[in-house]
Amino acid sequence: MGMVCTDLRLVMKLFDIVIVGGGGAGLYAAMEAMKTNPGLNVAVISKVYPNRSHTSAAQGGANAALANTAKDDTVELHIFDTIKGSDYLADQDAVEVLCSEAPKIIRELENMGTPWSRLDDKTIAQRPFGGAGRPRCCYCADKTGHTILQTLYEQCLRKGVQFFNEYFALDLALDGSRSKGLIALNIKTGRIEPFHARTVIFATGGYAKMYWNRSSNAAGNTGDGQAIAYRAGIPLKDMEFVQFHPTGLRKSGLLVTEGARGEGGYLVNTLGERFMSRYAPSKMELGPRDLVSRSLETEILEGRGFDSPAGKYLHLDLRHLGADLIKSRLPQIREMCMYFEGVDPIDEPIPVRPTAHYSMGGIDTDNFGRTAMGGVYAAGECGCVSVHGANRLGGNSLLDILVFGRIAGRAAAEEARGFNPAPITESELAEKEQELRSFMKPSGHYERYGTLREELGQTLAQNVGIFREASKISKGIGDIVALKERFEHVRVFDTSDVYNTNLIQVLELRNMLELAETVAAGALVREESRGSHTRTDFPVRDDENWHRHTTFTQEGGHPKLGFKPVTMGRYELQERTY
Ligand SMILES: Cc1cc2nc3c(=O)[nH]c(=O)nc-3n(C[C@H](O)[C@H](O)[C@H](O)COP(=O)(O)OP(=O)(O)OC[C@H]3O[C@@H](n4cnc5c(N)ncnc54)[C@H](O)[C@@H]3O)c2cc1C
Repeated sequence: MGMVCTDLRLVMKLFDIVIVGGGGAGLYAAMEAMKTNPGLNVAVISKVYPNRSHTSAAQGGANAALANTAKDDTVELHIFDTIKGSDYLADQDAVEVLCSEAPKIIRELENMGTPWSRLDDKTIAQRPFGGAGRPRCCYCADKTGHTILQTLYEQCLRKGVQFFNEYFALDLALDGSRSKGLIALNIKTGRIEPFHARTVIFATGGYAKMYWNRSSNAAGNTGDGQAIAYRAGIPLKDMEFVQFHPTGLRKSGLLVTEGARGEGGYLVNTLGERFMSRYAPSKMELGPRDLVSRSLETEILEGRGFDSPAGKYLHLDLRHLGADLIKSRLPQIREMCMYFEGVDPIDEPIPVRPTAHYSMGGIDTDNFGRTAMGGVYAAGECGCVSVHGANRLGGNSLLDILVFGRIAGRAAAEEARGFNPAPITESELAEKEQELRSFMKPSGHYERYGTLREELGQTLAQNVGIFREASKISKGIGDIVALKERFEHVRVFDTSDVYNTNLIQVLELRNMLELAETVAAGALVREESRGSHTRTDFPVRDDENWHRHTTFTQEGGHPKLGFKPVTMGRYELQERTY
């Protein structure tokens, strides 16, 4: 661990906006803030190089009712599909913003140079996606997130956004209940550095990596921003809703995009049946994710899955699509299957099983990204505005991070100068340094990070996974609390300053443990089945008691539960069938 930073440039500098996260949400927010007021001092801090953020892994695409592929598509249909997909838990005013901004934002990206795939008439191509009534998912082959992120990064550099890459945000610096900015660890040097800021925007992505190797997420999707906000007293919302994607690769959990089914792929069991005919006779493989994941899990539980040392699985068959289509529209999928499973989808079916994929829950925000703390905003997967409710539709998250990243960037740019935070002091930095150093002390510190992380992933998958019930969830909560106690004895064995990845992993584990407790607490209290949250002991959606959001605030180190009403609009509650 290095010295506390005495670099006066940083200590003295007051940023107008510090954005934590260089994914799609963070970069859109940064670009929009500079556009709103080019005179602002805007910084992005990111624990990985921005282009390596999880957004770059998004394959399938982003939804917008452009009506290029299906001429009769409309924004209204997109709104309805999203609300229905959310199992009526989404806030309808926020969904309206999401879907009506969608066509504009896709065209805006096109004008900046995103190379969208094209139809024969040269308009932007759109593919069918799960839970959508029309083909409205705009894509760049199967590398959509990557191309969007490159486009945004170029624009940010051009507009003068300052990048602090390989910085790990530790905590908000607080003045009573107000934010003064952030305290971060410079990963390259091991120094603790202050980011004195009028406003902070969290754009740190999701928390589904807590399911560890049963997750499609990047190693860094550990919910850091949500945990920082939670520790600072900012409420989280709807944390129990974790989306499982139906088609993760059998061994690694890596994702095979819904686009593979959008292009016409079949799901098949050991009997050779397209089993989705049992669960979603009209939408078949393109049912919403919660339903398709439950269907795969049921096939496995009822003995119609294939067996392997890596666990039970089913087949995703693309062979009938032909080599040309697979090579042109799903090249990355083919490469991943060959590399990670030794299977070429042109010749063989792909072995798949459900994988933890997306966090519907996150930092509670209003429609402008504002949180309960003045000057602190959140956008993207780490926020919960909420447009996805109990279940996100494929292609709506890239859209969410762009639309609400932009809105939060603009709101912070307009409001920043109204905040005049007190300075961050040397003693606050020294205290943080002490805290990190304490992990390196040998006495009383013997637990290994890898063991705790593995056990956390296992208990979550077994007890707070796709199918949940009270006794299992309670077991999960017991395990998480025990892991939190053991974490007190965790040891960072690497004591060096430079690129101390062991220290970073321990800090990420702390964040995951805190959030896992909220996920399990929400899962236990919500005695109904809605969207991704399926209680075998409460199999029916209970609108009378549970048509409301859950909120979580940290009190005495544990989550305190609260509730918030759902904002309704044009669409009344209906039964959800596909
Ligand atoms: C494999 C995969 C495929 C997907 N495909 C699609 C798709 O086709 N369509 C769709 O709509 N959605 C898709 N999604 C979901 C979507 O990609 C994500 O929800 C979205 O990209 C999240 O963007 P974000 O900007 O919120 O966060 P991310 O892109 O995850 O970025 C988070 C950023 O925060 C930074 N960060 C985190 N913690 C810290 C910290 N402590 N200190 C400093 N920096 C920090 C990271 O460095 C990173 O820059 C997919 C997700 C996965 C995992």
